[in-house]
Parts: sequence; structure tokens; C-alpha cells
Amino acid sequence: MEASPKPRLAVNTEPVEQALYEIRRKIYPRAVTGKFAVSRWFFVWATQLVFYGVPWLSWNGRQAVLFDLVHRKFYILGLVFWPQDIVYLTVLLLISAFSLFLFTAVAGRLWCGYACPQTVYTEIFMWIEKVIEGDRLRRMKLDKGGLSARKVGLKAAKHGAWIALALWTGFTFVGYFTPIRMLGAEVFAFALGPWETFWILFYGFATYGNAGWMREQVCKYMCPYARFQSVMFDRDTLIITYDNERGEPRGSRAKSADYKAKGLGDCVDCGICVQVCPTGIDIRNGLQYECIGCAACIDGCNQVMDKVGYPRGLIRYSSENALKEHLTPAGMVRRILRPRVLLYTGILWAIILAASVTLYHRVPVKVDVIRDRVASAQDADEIENVYRLQIMNTSEVSRRFAISVSGLPGLEIEGNMNAVELGAAASRMIPVRIEVPRANARKGANPIVFTIRTVGDDEPILITEKASFVVQ
Ligand code: SF4
Ligand code: SF4
Repeated sequence: MEASPKPRLAVNTEPVEQALYEIRRKIYPRAVTGKFAVSRWFFVWATQLVFYGVPWLSWNGRQAVLFDLVHRKFYILGLVFWPQDIVYLTVLLLISAFSLFLFTAVAGRLWCGYACPQTVYTEIFMWIEKVIEGDRLRRMKLDKGGLSARKVGLKAAKHGAWIALALWTGFTFVGYFTPIRMLGAEVFAFALGPWETFWILFYGFATYGNAGWMREQVCKYMCPYARFQSVMFDRDTLIITYDNERGEPRGSRAKSADYKAKGLGDCVDCGICVQVCPTGIDIRNGLQYECIGCAACIDGCNQVMDKVGYPRGLIRYSSENALKEHLTPAGMVRRILRPRVLLYTGILWAIILAASVTLYHRVPVKVDVIRDRVASAQDADEIENVYRLQIMNTSEVSRRFAISVSGLPGLEIEGNMNAVELGAAASRMIPVRIEVPRANARKGANPIVFTIRTVGDDEPILITEKASFVVQ
């Protein structure tokens, strides 16, 4: 007898297109109160008072902090930095980098959670959203509902407020590079230049887009710091963690029930920690790169613990080792002082000290000597070289300078170089002709030294610059 054919499963052989990117699920973070929310708002106020306020401060009759790119001078309170001071920018970058390493090694993503502009502006934009559209459930209902005059009105109000704040942010940003009062006058007179217009709109658009629309997407997909921060973590780094041992097995229960007798842990599985999370993750699944360390889940869970009468801290700042070894808070603090942290602290303080000392002893005069090759001339008895001395007065008082030169017998400067005037925070190119008797200079490059001395100061500043006197 012929065997009947085996039944075959129907298989769809059509090619199926797979999405390369996860489709974004809109997150409606629930508002939360607690000590970490207070800390976050403290940083929002502190950073924004500085950002929006500093350009309006004056110092010596000019803007206190101004990065004047056109004239290549950076004013920071009483200091004026020139392109030659680039080393201070390098130092500033080094201090920022080591601070980031140090804070991250000690307590994870502190920067992301409290002070990063993306977090700060998202917090402000979410607050505006909550004021206009209401808390989480109202917002979800509004978005699900059909088009109505109320919905259009609320959305228009929200976006209007966001755009106004974003443009003000763009205006303030440009106010660090163009005197902000002048910029304000130009805005009111519709006389903004093309670059100023571009940067105000660009920065405003970036703020509106990142804090209003992109939000957690910036942290998850665009920020490189989220990707490499884990290399700065170790088993003693404080991170926001869910106490698995205490919380599991999770489950709902009546408030009066003896949940321990039922074999349940402290997590009532209410989902509040997920609802308050601005990146929409569940911290109970362990440390995830999406977690920005904002601590909203700690506040949320503490509120729940208070309500059900359990001890706070089911979600808390802890470390891998602290959880494993059941360390007390004092034990955790002792672990902070470990070699990596001490190394970062030592380097950071060394850089800060060196920079402070250098800044304190910074000479407010700079000199560059450029030999004018074309004007090298000679006659029978005398040889002449022409130089250009660029003198920069980096202080905010005008000064007089005397220029002299030495290094060869019989060296002479042509003209009166004993009272060269230079205005405050100004630079001047001074042509200097030097003659020397032919017999006193050998063929080739003869080393000479320019001395530039301030005149009329109680403690004169003296600067020497080496140069070459060339005989062809
Ligand atoms: S898991 Fe907690 S700390 Fe991390 S982003 Fe979400 S709410 Fe913030
Ligand atoms: S908020 Fe606390 S109790 Fe509620 S689900 Fe999260 S961890 Fe569990």
C-alpha cells in the first residue's frame, strides 16, 4: 500500500521587510515629587539663572562675559583672553573631562541626570506641557481623542510657549558672542545680521526639537556619552538600582495582607517607577544604557513605599558590591575612596591648581616679533633690519611701553620708542628699524633680544623676546 504524503505546514515564503529601527513609542512621563525632583529643579534653576542671566551682567562698562569672535577676544569678568591664550581653553576642556570622569566613577550619570542641557530643557518643556495639557493621563487622553477646538487650542498654546522659550534660548546663546543689549536693539529694529539670525533660529530650533520632540531619543541614540560611560563604571560606582533581593517576587497585595507569608517581596508591581521614567524603561530589569540617572524612579517608588508602609529605598543609589555584600551606607561611602577615584581627584586638583597659579601670575602684555624679510637692507657702513612688533595689552587699562634692543655692539633703534601708547585690551603692530655697524655683525643670523617695558607703572612689566639680526 502506498504511504500517504506527510501533511506539510503552510510556510509563507514571501520576503518580509524588517524595520532597522525601533518605532518610537511616545512616552508620557508622570510628574513626580520628592527630594531628587527637588535636586533636579535646583539644578534647572541654577544652570538657567547662570545661562540666561550672565550675558546681562556688566564689568568695566562692557559685557562681563563676551566671546567676541570678530575681534578675537574673550572677556570673562576682569580677564581678557586672546587667541594666544588657547592653552587656557585646553585646560578648561581637561578640567571638564576629568570632572566628568570623577563624577561618573563616583556616582554614575550625575551629569546626565541633573545638569546636562538635554535633561534640563526637557524638564522645563515637560513642565510647560504639564501646565498646559495636564498630567500624564490627561495628556494621553488628549492625544487619543479626535480633533477638537480645545485640542487645537491646547496644542497651539503649548507649541507657542515652547517656541517662545526656544527663541529666547537662541537669542541668549548668540548674546554670548554679540553684545546682548546691542543684539536686543537689533531684534526690535528688525536689523539683525544674517549670521545672528541664522544662529538664533538654529539654536532655537535645536532646543525646540530636542527638548520638545526628540527628548529621550537624544539620550538613547544621539549622545555618545551614553555609549562610553560604562567604561568609567566599576562595581563600587553608585548607580540607581532596584533591590532585587528585597523586591522579588513582585506582586500586588492588599495593604493589610501578610505579604511575606504569601512569599512576596516588597515590590507591589504598581508600575509607578516605569510611569515616571523619562526614557520609559523599567529599572527592575537592571542597569540599562537608556537610564540617564535622573532618580525619578527613586522618588516614585519611595512615595509608593510610604503609602503601603514599607521602608523607603527599594530603588535607591547603591553599587553592585553594596547590594551583593549588603554594605551599610557608611560602608558604601568608604568604598568611594578607591584608587581610580583618588587618581582622578589628584589629577583634577593638580590641573586646577596649576591653572589658577598660572592665571594669577599671567602677564597682561604679550609680544610677538616678526622679522620683515623684504626690508632687510644695507649700505656701506651700516646694516639695517626691519621688524614688526605686535604688542598686545590684555589688561583693561591703557599703557605706555618703551622698546629697546640688545645683543650686538652698537645696535640702535631708529626713532623714539620710549613711549609707545596702547589702549585697553588693544593690540598694535609697531614697525621697528634696527641698525648696526657692519663690523659688529657677522654674516648670517646674529641673536638679539628685544626688551619691552611698561612706562609709568608702579611695578613695571618687563618682557624679553628673542630675534635674529640677519646679515646677507
Ligand atoms: S530608570 Fe530611573 S533613573 Fe533611570 S532614567 Fe528611568 S527614572 Fe531616571
Ligand atoms: S514603584 Fe516600586 S513598588 Fe512600584 S513597581 Fe516600581 S519598584 Fe515596584
